[in-house]
Formats: sequence, C-alpha cells, structure tokens
Amino acid sequence: MSQYDFDLFVIGAGSGGVRASRMAAGFGARVGVAEDLYLGGTCVNVGCVPKKLFAYSAHYSEDFEDAKGFGWKLPEAVFDWPTLVRNKNQEIERLNGIYRNMLKASDVTIIDARAQFIDSHTLQVGDKQVTAERILIATGGWPHIPDFPGNEHVISSNEVFHLESLPKRTLVVGGGYIAIEFASIFHGMQREVSLLYRGEMFLRGFDSSLREHMAATIKQKGIDLRFNANVKDIQRQADGSLQVNLTDGTALETDLVLYATGRKPNLRGLGLENTAVTLDDKGFVAVNGDYETQDPSIYAIGDVTDTLQLTPVALAEGMALARRLFRPDDYVPVDYRDIATAVFCIPNIATLGLTEEQAREAGYGLKVYESRFRPMRNTLAGRGEESLMKMIVDKVSDRVLGVHMIGPDAGEIIQGLAVALKAGATKAMFDATLGIHPTAAEEFVTMRTPTRTD
Ligand code: FAD
Ligand code: NDP
Repeated sequence: MSQYDFDLFVIGAGSGGVRASRMAAGFGARVGVAEDLYLGGTCVNVGCVPKKLFAYSAHYSEDFEDAKGFGWKLPEAVFDWPTLVRNKNQEIERLNGIYRNMLKASDVTIIDARAQFIDSHTLQVGDKQVTAERILIATGGWPHIPDFPGNEHVISSNEVFHLESLPKRTLVVGGGYIAIEFASIFHGMQREVSLLYRGEMFLRGFDSSLREHMAATIKQKGIDLRFNANVKDIQRQADGSLQVNLTDGTALETDLVLYATGRKPNLRGLGLENTAVTLDDKGFVAVNGDYETQDPSIYAIGDVTDTLQLTPVALAEGMALARRLFRPDDYVPVDYRDIATAVFCIPNIATLGLTEEQAREAGYGLKVYESRFRPMRNTLAGRGEESLMKMIVDKVSDRVLGVHMIGPDAGEIIQGLAVALKAGATKAMFDATLGIHPTAAEEFVTMRTPTRTD
C-alpha cells in the first residue's frame, strides 16, 4: 500500500483536470480532485458552452430578418436578456451535475475547495491536508485586464455571463477570439457595438484573407471597428455612462466595456514556492513534452501551461498524461499539428493547418484557391454577405496544407476536413470527392482553378 492518500491528485476540475482524473481512475489509480469554483472549469461555466448558447441566441436577430424574404411575416421580435441568462444558468447547472456524477462514477474523490501546495507531495485543500504520489496542476487561466486609469469600470468574460442587464451600448477591447465573438453576440442582441483593437488588423495569426474579409463583413453589419488605438483611461459619468478616452486622441461614450485582452495562467495562492516547479518567461508553468515540471512529482496540463488555449487540447493532454502514468503501453503523445479551430462569431470563422503566410514562411511553393460567394440562403433573404473559402496547397506534393473559411456553420464544415488533412489529403483527393449539392461545403471539392500560383 502506498504511503500517500492518493496515487494522483488533480488541482482543478476543468476540461483537462476532469479528463485526467477520470482516465487515471479508470486505469485503477486512486485519484482525488480539488475544485474551488465550478465543476467543468472555464469551458463549461464561463467559456465555450455559455458563449455558444449566447451565439445561438444572437443569431436569431438575423434569422428573423432573413425569414421575411422566405415568406414569413413575423411580429417585431423582442429580446429578453434575463430569460437567456436564466435558461443558460439552468443548462450549466445541469452540466455541473453531470460532471459531478461522472467523476463519482469513476471513483474520483471530489473536494470542493481551493488547493495549495505545502510541499511536493502535500496539499492543503480547504480544511484538509492530502498527500499524493503525483500532483497535477490543471488550474487553467484567468482573464488579464491591463493596468490603466479607470480599469475598475470594465468587465471580463467571467462577468459577462452573469450581467443583470445588457445595456444599449458596449465597447469590446481586444482583437482575438473572445473580442470578435462577443462583438458579434452583442450586435446580434441589437446593441450598439464598438470593437477596439490596438493594431492594424485584428485576429493576429489568422490567414490574412480571413482577417480582411471578417473586418469588412462585421463593419458592413454595423459594428464600429476602431483599429490602431487603445484605451488611455475611462471615467464614469454622473449619468452612469462611461467616457472612454483613446490613445489616438478620440473618445467614445458607452455603457459597458468588455476587456478581452488575453488570459494569464491561474496560479493565485497555489503555493508553488513550496515546490521546485518553475515558470517560463511568459509566466506559464514550465513543462517538458511529457507535461513534467521541474519538480519530479508534479505535472501540469492545459491553459496553465504555454499550450493552445482550447478545450480539445486540454482534454487530449489530460488523456495523454493519464495514459503515460498509469497505462504506458497505450500512451500516444498529443499531435499538435493541424488542430482545427473556430471563432463562433456571426458568421463563423474556422481555420485548419497553415495560413498562406505561414506556408510561405516555411518555404513551400503554393497553389492558393480562394472563393467568395453569396450562400444560397442569403439570396431570398436579400443579404449581400459573402462567404470565403480558401485552400493552401503545396505545389510540389499536392498536399493540402491549410483550409480556411468564413461563413455559416464554418466550424461544423471544417471539422470534417480536419480528418482529411490528418490523413494527408492531397488536392487531387479533394477534386475526386463528389460534393453534396446544394451545400456551401461542396465548394471545397469544386475549387478547380488556383487564384494564384507561385
Ligand atoms: P480550466 O477549464 O480553466 O479549469 C481550471 C479549473 O481549475 C477551474 O475550474 C478553476 O476554478 C480551478 N482552479 C484553479 N485554481 C485552483 C486551485 N488552487 N484549487 C482548486 N481549483 C482551482 N475553447 C474551445 O475549444 N472552444 C471554445 O469555443 C472556447 N470558448 C471560450 C470562450 C471563453 C469566453 C473563454 C474564456 C475560453 C474559451 N475556450 C474555448 C478556452 C477553453 O475554455 C480553455 O482552453 C479550457 O477551459 C482550458 O481547460 P483547463 O483544464 O486548462 O482549465
Ligand atoms: P487572445 O489571445 O485570442 O486575444 C487577445 C487580444 O487582446 C489580442 O488581439 C491582443 O492583441 C489584445 N491585447 C493583448 N494585450 C492587450 C493590451 N494590453 N491592450 C490592448 N489589447 C491587448 O485572447 P482572448 O482573451 O480573446 O481569448 C483567450 C484564449 O481563449 C484564446 O486565445 C483562445 O485560445 C481561447 N478561446 C477560444 C475560443 C474558441 O475556440 N472559439 C473562444 C474564446 C477563447 P495582439 O494581437 O496585438 O497581441
């Protein structure tokens, strides 16, 4: 019998922690998990799930408008934020319950409390001390709001899901996933939205065609895009509104400011100073390719490390680590290549593999296929909005290196193509595939003529 209470103790029951706990327990390990806020972590409570529910809600305003061209006469639609928040909360509570039952059914001991290291094998968890042969840090990330005068007036994505009301005007600051998604969500909820990004063009790291197409699309919808500027300070006015002064000398008045300027590893009060764990130069827990920290008994996965901040990545890392520790014969390392991802703005952005810029930088000679078209649904709807589809192909091997899309359900469409790219699909294989007609997705198997060739 081991000298420790647990073979593995996991700090944080988010995407990565729950997966690692359940898998390890399934392999026969004695596992405990500490969670101080909410089972399911960021994704279930203040991330992917409520965000997607909000995005569905936001979509209805365009659906109601579009319905008219298809013969529907509807009374004026009225959006009620408290109903959405109440229904969303019920769904999240249901999911929290499912997570608790899944962990219990896997024989994982759940402690609803904050964990703090006392030493490399001992944790203070609430009012208990527990010992474990191995400890996994899966504490995720936390929104980062920069320091500036008046930053006490802004909210982050943590608060946005619980607002009592959604005011008329909102300013979203940032140019990444959360900023673009929430600009779309607020706009769909018929709010006046400004989006402020400090650089030349938002969505840094995405394919440049996508970035430009998305900027044009949401500008045309009526979102006020402000690039090349940042917040200087914010002042609360006597009437409760917010005066936001920008670094370019302009100002705007709004009712709500949402900061979406990235997330930092969640290490508050974790007691890492009582261990040999080190941080990397960006402040993440430093790990090697096997998720080992500098402390031989301590591991880390997910957003607390410098990995892609996506739920499927945290899940895959949790699964890989559990196998490596307790079922080494089945261990398969995580393959970080060609990870598909979607931004759930309206319309969706979805992206997979290399951008045109990355492929050129890597030295490939390219055939680039690009298609812009009005989806059939938009015709009778009288909506001018175009979808964008783009494929990046290696001229020498004919392998498809990247696939990018903006359009309705792009996330759903690109997921299937991710399997094709994993299997090493060539452009000839795409060409040999018959489409499903009439769909938007068939465009990916009918693009015959390169838009440009190196
Ligand atoms: P988390 O899920 O953050 O879990 C960490 C857990 O640890 C938390 O529950 C926390 O309370 C707990 N914890 C922290 N410290 C302690 C402690 N000392 N003791 C006990 N418990 C502790 N990803 C996608 O793939 N798709 C999306 O659509 C998507 N949308 C997102 C939308 C938003 C608004 C945000 C913020 C994120 C989104 N993400 C999305 C990212 C995704 O949520 C994260 O990548 C994922 O949750 C990371 O999982 P994790 O296990 O590393 O951490
Ligand atoms: P991102 O890292 O995606 O974007 C942060 C944005 O804020 C960037 O545009 C960045 O600009 C800008 N920024 C950073 N610091 C400042 C500053 N001091 N002042 C002004 N602007 C600043 O972070 P998010 O917060 O949007 O999301 C966090 C992560 O969560 C994402 O990276 C993603 O991995 C994950 N997520 C995934 C989703 C999905 O899968 N659909 C949805 C939501 C989140 P610059 O580019 O110039 O650095």
